Amino acid sequence: MIDLAIIGGGPAGLSAGLYATRGGIKDVILYEKGMPGGQITGSSEIENYPGIKEIKSGIDFMEPWQEQCFRFGLKHTMSEVIRVEKHGDIFHIIHNPGKGEEIQEARSVIITTGGRPKKSNIKGEQEFWGKGVSTCATCDAFFYKKREVAVLGGGDTALEEAIYLTKFASKVHLIHRRDGFRAAPVTVQHAKSNEQINFLTPYVVTEICGDENGVNALMIKNLSTNKEEKLEVPVIFEFVGYEVNNQILQQKDGSFLCDVDSYGSVIVDLKMHTNVPGLFAAGDIRIDAPKQVVCAAGDGAQAALEAIAYLEQKH
Ligand SMILES: Cc1cc2nc3c(=O)[nH]c(=O)nc-3n(C[C@H](O)[C@H](O)[C@H](O)COP(=O)(O)OP(=O)(O)OC[C@H]3O[C@@H](n4cnc5c(N)ncnc54)[C@H](O)[C@@H]3O)c2cc1C
Repeated sequence: MIDLAIIGGGPAGLSAGLYATRGGIKDVILYEKGMPGGQITGSSEIENYPGIKEIKSGIDFMEPWQEQCFRFGLKHTMSEVIRVEKHGDIFHIIHNPGKGEEIQEARSVIITTGGRPKKSNIKGEQEFWGKGVSTCATCDAFFYKKREVAVLGGGDTALEEAIYLTKFASKVHLIHRRDGFRAAPVTVQHAKSNEQINFLTPYVVTEICGDENGVNALMIKNLSTNKEEKLEVPVIFEFVGYEVNNQILQQKDGSFLCDVDSYGSVIVDLKMHTNVPGLFAAGDIRIDAPKQVVCAAGDGAQAALEAIAYLEQKH
């Protein structure tokens, strides 16, 4: 039996590992199905983490995080967790798919499995991912000051981010395949009253074009006329949905181990407690996550402090 299992080795999980081991918890295992580091390792640059002045690639940025945690005794198991169950006061971490499932018992658990923005699968998306194809306006808007940019999507996030981008870009082309929007009417109204947003509906993007410097244009098609045209922009911000990695909380009967909202994000309080005692969630997996490294790291630290308090009071 271990004291704490942390599931997911992104910024939230690694910060939780650092605070838990440095805070005195003896047996802490971090389960990570790939290399630790999380989503940010897929980014070519990060420049908004306070205190780090240099622009670094996501991989270089996350490397010292692992080293620092493991120095304080965090153990790492490179294994995919399939499910977390609770039996009485004890959690079962069911992991190691395909190699004969193993069960590890744990007194407490922090879930930091994050999520991922959905991809559009448009031609050129993969080639220019991180080089003019972005899923994060907070991260990348700054690079496109006074430029024209494109936004893809018709939900709340797409419209809210299009409005946000007008603070930086000279013009935002909002591309959506339908004339109507899924976003809340008040958000649509807000976007429509913004003169910097150019609505391209009903349009689809047929190709993302560019060269060795990244994206330089989009091929877009007007679905009413079937006419194709070129839109010269250095970036496309895609907001076509977000998947929360909450599968490990799903029990054999289909219910979730703890409360989740309609998007599947884990409901926590300000101290990262779920409604299940001893179970915490931190980072992009939680409700209202700002989806930023600095916030995920803060969440992880908070969850670890709460896990320490829980274990002290319980045992
Ligand atoms: C392209 C891109 C660029 C970004 N740029 C920035 C930026 O410039 N600045 C910024 O602040 N933020 C940026 N972000 C957002 C930032 O990366 C996330 O907010 C942050 O990584 C969330 O951390 P997390 O630990 O909550 O989750 P994640 O980083 O998603 O980590 C979760 C980890 O859990 C693992 N995992 C999932 N399921 C299981 C399982 N069943 N078993 C074991 N392991 C599992 C995953 O492999 C992953 O490593 C960017 C994101 C992307 C995609």
